[in-house]
This record gives sequence, C-alpha cells and structure tokens, in this order.
Amino acid sequence: MFGKLKKILATATIGAMTVLTLTGCGGDNAAKDGGSKTLAVGSSVDFAPFEFQDEKEKEYQGFEMDLIRSIGKEMGREVKISNIGFDGLIPALQAKNIDVIISGMTINDERKEKVAFSDPYYKSGLTMVIDEKNDSVKSFKDLEGKKIAVQIGTTSANEAKSIKDAEVKELNTPADCFMELKAGGVDAVINDRPVNDYFIVTSGTTGVKSLPEMLTAEDYGIAVAKDNPELLKEVNDALKKLHENGEYDKIHEKWFGKETK
Ligand code: GLN
Repeated sequence: MFGKLKKILATATIGAMTVLTLTGCGGDNAAKDGGSKTLAVGSSVDFAPFEFQDEKEKEYQGFEMDLIRSIGKEMGREVKISNIGFDGLIPALQAKNIDVIISGMTINDERKEKVAFSDPYYKSGLTMVIDEKNDSVKSFKDLEGKKIAVQIGTTSANEAKSIKDAEVKELNTPADCFMELKAGGVDAVINDRPVNDYFIVTSGTTGVKSLPEMLTAEDYGIAVAKDNPELLKEVNDALKKLHENGEYDKIHEKWFGKETK
C-alpha cells in the first residue's frame, strides 16, 4: 500500500519535472515572454574546464557553468542550461530557444553580425597540440600542408582553413579532435589554449604535447539576441557586480588557481 503510494508520488514528481524541463527549454524563457524568471542558457558542454559533464555530479561543471549560475542569481533568474552543439548555439539563440550563450565563445566581427556580446570575461587564444615525438612542427608556420583537426564552427576552424594547403578535419567536439590526433589521423589539433592545457594535465593523456605559441588572442563573451538590449544590460550589470564583490575572482581561482587573468 505504502509502496504503491510512493510509486505514484514518484511518478507525479517525474511528471512535474518533465513539465518544468519542457518549460525551461520551450516557451517560458525570458527571450519568449519578455522577462520571466528563467534564464535559458545554451552551452556546448564539451569544453573543460569551462563546461563539462562529470559523471559523479548531477549538474554541469566548469568555470562558465559557475559563472552563469552566479550571473543568474544576481539577475534573480533561475538558470536552465541546455547542452547544444557549438555550431547550433547561434541558430538556437536566433530562434529564441535560449536567452544567452555561454560556451567559450570568442567575440568576433563575424558573430557580431548575428548576436550581441556582453563585456569580455575571459582572455583566451589558440594553441596547438601535437604528438610528443613530432619534431617537425615547432610553430604554426610548420602546419602548411599538414592535417589539422578542429571543432566545427569555431575560431580554430577559421584559422586552420587559412593555413596554406592544410587539410582540415572539422569534428564535433575537442575530444573527437584529440582522439583523431591520438589515432594518427591528423598532425595537430588547434583549439583554445586553456582547454588544450587542461586536457593534457587533467586527463592524464600521454604521448601528446601542447606548444606554447599562441596563434591569436581572443576574448570570450556571453551572447544575447541583438534585439534584446535589456537582457544584455542585465547580464553586463550582473557581471560587473561579480567583479566588484569578489565572486568572479573566487570562481576563477577555483578553476584556474593563481593563473593571471
Ligand atoms: N573560442 C572558440 C570559438 O569561439 C571555441 C569555443 C568552443 O569550442 N566552445 O570559436
């Protein structure tokens, strides 16, 4: 009897959760109703230490996941994060399925034609990862005519395509790129420096090295729909507050230690 009741309750709870999840991803985000208490966030959760899934944790982990939750808190909105492939993020924002993108997204002119960016919150840039035993590639100049793996839709993909005679493989995630390198399918992976460094240090991957040379300097920004300046202001105000009250520094230190900003 009691067992049955528990089962009914559990089913009801799952039902309620489903409804909540659906509203989170669907019509009830701030983009669609002009100011509900939800902030629908899109992120390509494949970019440690910025966003990744840890099977021991039920929530997405990473610097940007903490940052956007704190931003949501400042804004008084409940943060709902949807995992969307990197090249699908801007289309999802334009379709108003999400309110903001936080995904290690570099602020650049091409994207500024489609979305508005918050103030920059992280300085990054591109580096490469190659086989540890590869002595012929010492700098980006040496990648001419080589095979390079990059994540699709990224600044790395653009840069790789501009290297003379390079054969560029555009894969879905950085993890796919690293796998391709390990399998000998490419000579190098071009990707964001902190992600390359984190991959080598934390995943305990051996046999590859990341070169210190930076091809570009890039700033990450939170993307908001162009026709939503009110939301952009809210995001920037929250970000500013987190810088002032020390919360940004706390989150930064949690993920990057004493590394300079
Ligand atoms: N910073 C790079 C870009 O904006 C890569 C981002 C990512 O893969 N998440 O294209």
